[in-house]
Amino acid sequence: MFAALPELIGTLDTDQDTLRWAARDYGGTIHHPPAAVLRPVTTADISTVVRYAHEHGLKVVPRGRGHSTGGQAQAPGGVVVDMNRLNGIHDVGPDRVVVDAGARWSEVLRATLPRGLTPPVLTDYLELTVGGTLSVGGLGGASHHHGAQTDNVLELDVVTPHGDIVSCSPDHYCELFDAVRAGRGRHGIITRATLRLVPAPDTVMWHKLHYDTVDQLAADQQHLVTTGTFDYVEGQLKIRDNRRVAELEAVTYTGVSAGHGRLDDLTFRDADTQTASYWDFVNRLADGEPLLRNAGLWDAPHPWCNLLLPSNAAVDLLRHTEHELGADLYSDFGLVLAYPLRTDRITTPRLTLPHGDIVFLIAALRYAPIGAPQIVAAMQTANDMLVAETLAAGGTLYLEPL
Ligand SMILES: Cc1cc2nc3c(=O)[nH]c(=O)nc-3n(C[C@H](O)[C@H](O)[C@H](O)COP(=O)(O)OP(=O)(O)OC[C@H]3O[C@@H](n4cnc5c(N)ncnc54)[C@H](O)[C@@H]3O)c2cc1C
Repeated sequence: MFAALPELIGTLDTDQDTLRWAARDYGGTIHHPPAAVLRPVTTADISTVVRYAHEHGLKVVPRGRGHSTGGQAQAPGGVVVDMNRLNGIHDVGPDRVVVDAGARWSEVLRATLPRGLTPPVLTDYLELTVGGTLSVGGLGGASHHHGAQTDNVLELDVVTPHGDIVSCSPDHYCELFDAVRAGRGRHGIITRATLRLVPAPDTVMWHKLHYDTVDQLAADQQHLVTTGTFDYVEGQLKIRDNRRVAELEAVTYTGVSAGHGRLDDLTFRDADTQTASYWDFVNRLADGEPLLRNAGLWDAPHPWCNLLLPSNAAVDLLRHTEHELGADLYSDFGLVLAYPLRTDRITTPRLTLPHGDIVFLIAALRYAPIGAPQIVAAMQTANDMLVAETLAAGGTLYLEPL
């Protein structure tokens, strides 16, 4: 199939182990092996293979860390482009950094924090690639101030579906710029990105506020994102030690905060407040990975479901998800992530949002044991119901394959 392919500096691998690896993602429920995996060393390698695949009618799909949960980074019978080796961090300037698309956000931060700088929006987990999250949007607790990660990109280098290598920005090839941001890798492969940077705090004041009802939690979250009082606002529902927890996380970035960070007028029952270094705060999920590995749940199926809802429908859905919480449909580690976003801050054309000034991201993060297909099926059925309710309420699906 690849006999006439021009010579590459990287490799085109077709061994069974590699194909099995490329047919797996964090979701662990969809497995489509490609015909080959390109491990490029240069952008020219990608261009060569994309051009060849285009001429031969083969699908080409880039893959970052494969942390998708629905086969988004798989290329049935085609070519998966493993971006992980293209992970250089280049110039760090006073307001921007140039990085290769295979770099992880943790690597970006290790280069920018010594200069007192950070990307304005980070995902909760930092071991995702820059290309991987720019291809879906990239939302986090600072999105109510700064939008998605895709709203904080200044320039992208892209290999187009025809194999051309093009730099694009809001002023230059803007159609391509708009097509690849949140474009799921189907409109071009991002090879390099210029990311906006802002001053980073040394420390943060991190409040975990606990609520009696999801209605109170959601009302306070909306109040905080509307007033902009805190730099970071998220929240979650979970069961821990046999107790239901409805938690709002509100964080102030010490010394560079955009808000006053006071807890006045909120209706929480109790608060747990701590000071942490900015790095420990943004890297807080790093500890979760070994815990999940020890519990055998890292490489197990993760039937996750990410939804965007109009604010008036979000509370109904949260009440529904609260009743579902528990070992059967979430395992002891699962949770429902829920926080509001301001739609006026998100301008990425392909990141489709419901109508309204405020919308909620609600993510059902479920962990199934290995070798329990009936549990996976029950979790997927529960997700199907959430999706149906979301769409009926005018919501949209985040991270879905295009
Ligand atoms: C533990 C965990 C925590 C997460 N937390 C958040 C969060 O806080 N906020 C959030 O928004 N999301 C979050 N996500 C979802 C995550 O952002 C997406 O799944 C993301 O796409 C994964 O990045 P990746 O590098 O693993 O990409 P992959 O899964 O490898 O690829 C994802 C998509 O991007 C495309 N792609 C990859 N690289 C490129 C490239 N260079 N050019 C063009 N397209 C490319 C792929 O083709 C695919 O469609 C989380 C996921 C996990 C597993």
